[in-house]
Amino acid sequence: MQITKCRICESSGIHRFLQLGATPPANSFVKPEDAASEVSFPLELFLCSDCGLVQLGYTVPPEALFRNYLYFSSTSETLKRHFAALAEEIMQRFVKPGGLVVEIGSNDGVLLRNFAGKAAVAIGFEPATNVAEVARAAGVETINDFFNSSTAAALLEEKGPASAIVATNVFAHIAGLKDLVKGMQLLLGKDGVVIVEFHHLASLYSHMEFDSIYHEHLCYYSMKPIQNLFGLYGMEVFDVKKITIHGGSLRVYAQKIGAGRPISPEVQKIVDEEEAIGLYQLKTYERFAGDIAGLRDELLALLRKLKSEGKRIAGYGAPAKCTTLLNYFGIGPDLVEYIVDRGAAKQNRLVPGVHIPIVGPEKLQSDRPDYLLLLAWNLCDEIVGQQEEFRKSGGKFIVPIPKPRII
Ligand code: SAH
Ligand code: ZN
Repeated sequence: MQITKCRICESSGIHRFLQLGATPPANSFVKPEDAASEVSFPLELFLCSDCGLVQLGYTVPPEALFRNYLYFSSTSETLKRHFAALAEEIMQRFVKPGGLVVEIGSNDGVLLRNFAGKAAVAIGFEPATNVAEVARAAGVETINDFFNSSTAAALLEEKGPASAIVATNVFAHIAGLKDLVKGMQLLLGKDGVVIVEFHHLASLYSHMEFDSIYHEHLCYYSMKPIQNLFGLYGMEVFDVKKITIHGGSLRVYAQKIGAGRPISPEVQKIVDEEEAIGLYQLKTYERFAGDIAGLRDELLALLRKLKSEGKRIAGYGAPAKCTTLLNYFGIGPDLVEYIVDRGAAKQNRLVPGVHIPIVGPEKLQSDRPDYLLLLAWNLCDEIVGQQEEFRKSGGKFIVPIPKPRII
């Protein structure tokens, strides 16, 4: 479905500034035998000139994306540590003994596992059946369904109001955005807190993280649209923190108006920073689109030069975002022979669209390419650390973003 109005403020003043072509959904890593039957959808970005929300034009139906899912947050050590610390903070600051913590998009239980043995009831919503099973096996109470105002009402009926509702890296994914926030407002206790983490549009723009643009991510948030969205349902943002996850994210804390926590000056500070870099102006994005095309030319020139020198290139990491980068740049198996990834669910599959094969990291013990294109660039330190052997034996990494560099 193609939108005709802004997903938050419903203005028809939406302007297209970026066209990345038609690509298959980024997480649809295909089995070789299914490669011929892939479906592609347009990947185009719009800015709403009224509320400043940057958003995709086309919505792929959620049932097609989120019932079977190949992303497991716990694959990353960085994320495991990050969510263990968040659980600790939630317990200390916001939840009394016996309080209810609800997570939306709880995935494999990466956050909620940390509540085992704590004095709180933790429940997650996770629509992907294969992922929910992993969480349940780890002892995390999981509702295998989409969170919306009706599933929220059912949980409220059963368990009472929540002390904390957490939604990390899922606000961008939900087509029924307003119904989601309505559900939060319904389920949240009057002094409860909502904690939302999302990739910050300011980082996406400033660090050229355009590969985060794919069909699962319908919205690319900055502060003002988030404040508007909560405001529509009687809630307000009272605090915000910058976090390094996924190349630069924000953690936003919201409450019902009247809950009484003072509004931190950090909130306005982030808005001011966003305005200073032009995040609410169309011309910023028009320039951004040109810069992405420039990055493409630069990376392709580098890869082709290395190839012409007889070097062998593979890839490291097959996150969803590699689908956007490889497809938009037109990088196939002729330039990058294969990609290694630790996630078992992706191994022996192909990158959607460009069909580069994905294998396990043990491949690097029997085969030593000269270069590894680091597609999971957000985990640069973790991966380069793990691959010390590869570098000791003369192997090099190419980090594509924000500007191609070799380490
Ligand atoms: N919270 C984890 C996982 C993020 S990936 C983290 O931060 O790493 C997004 C997750 O949200 C996926 O597991 C997806 O299946 C789930 N999801 C998508 N739509 C949802 C909805 N409407 N309600 C609850 N979860 C949803
Ligand atoms: Zn708008």
